Amino acid sequence: MQPFELITVSTVPEAIKVQAGSSTAQQGADIRFIAGGTNLVDYMKLNVETPRQLVDINALPLDRIEALQDGGMKLGALARNSDVARHEEVQRKYPVLSQALLSGASAQLRNMATTAGNLLQKTRCVYYRDTAFGCNKRTPGSGCSAIGGHNRMLAILGTSGSCIASNPSDQNIALAALDATVHITGKTGDRKVPISSFFLLPGATPQRETVLEPGDLITHVTVPALPSDAKSAYLKLRDRASYEFALASAAIVMEQKNGHISFIRVAMGGVGSVPWRSHEAEKVLHAKAPTPANFRAAAEAALHGARPQSQNGFKVELAKRCLTHALTQVSKQA
Ligand SMILES: Cc1cc2nc3c(=O)[nH]c(=O)nc-3n(C[C@H](O)[C@H](O)[C@H](O)COP(=O)(O)OP(=O)(O)OC[C@H]3O[C@@H](n4cnc5c(N)ncnc54)[C@H](O)[C@@H]3O)c2cc1C
Repeated sequence: MQPFELITVSTVPEAIKVQAGSSTAQQGADIRFIAGGTNLVDYMKLNVETPRQLVDINALPLDRIEALQDGGMKLGALARNSDVARHEEVQRKYPVLSQALLSGASAQLRNMATTAGNLLQKTRCVYYRDTAFGCNKRTPGSGCSAIGGHNRMLAILGTSGSCIASNPSDQNIALAALDATVHITGKTGDRKVPISSFFLLPGATPQRETVLEPGDLITHVTVPALPSDAKSAYLKLRDRASYEFALASAAIVMEQKNGHISFIRVAMGGVGSVPWRSHEAEKVLHAKAPTPANFRAAAEAALHGARPQSQNGFKVELAKRCLTHALTQVSKQA
């Protein structure tokens, strides 16, 4: 690990001011916020992240989980994953979020991991993690060793010729299905970014993963109210039952009226370069009956643009079955 200076801040303006001195908020940032540290420190040990300054934001008052008057919820950037997952109102309003969080990592990690840290966690692509190999995300222009390499875990949707890394987060898939909004404060004031616009597709610049700029601090995430009869769930398929990242996952929010699907949101994990909302699947399902044939048609639509690599072709059918099964389970709750 490279030497670094640890700076503790106690106000939001102080945090913004210090991090604004960084050359970037993306890969290679020389000044980084540290929250739970469960992702950042891992990558610092591997010399994948080499910040010269770490800004400890844990003293900031950003850990509250609150119900909003409009029926939605506000999740503080520093709210721990375990606190969000076990929050009575989160469990009641958004089972999909609670289930996604509880399917991730381990109890110890979830006790440290935060809402914003989870949102920004880095890919688990083995070539991103190993500085001996080329990786355009870590070192722009050095090539993508995963293309033609060990790519079993990696993305099949939203990839590019420069990068096929998958977004590893479970939380992010639930937040995508819930149409959450990321609240940011920075040098130019406060702004809100819908989660659908927060993550950037890799394209030719996979080192740029989000819309964040130097000095940008995520303060909280808001989740809108759902229709009153909406049901939701998260299904995660992986190589072992716990402490493992998704090969494929599905986050579903569904409401049915008079035997038809009146409201539907579909997001998928393990398969996308970013948390993958499937408007294609939603379009197939809207106003249709919740039948196996319609669920399968939605899954076909969701995976229509999949571009599998040498080792992850199995994910296409796995993701379809994951989605079909999750849709079936949620439809039975109604
Ligand atoms: C062994 C292991 C297994 C895991 N398994 C899973 C799994 O199955 N599913 C899953 O989803 N996750 C899994 N994780 C990942 C875990 O969820 C993340 O490590 C965790 O959520 C990161 O949160 P953190 O608060 O520790 O982030 P940190 O490590 O503190 O920060 C991560 C990044 O976020 C930035 N950041 C933090 N807060 C802010 C803020 N407020 N504003 C702007 N930037 C900020 C930091 O600068 C850093 O770049 C696993 C992790 C480990 C180590």
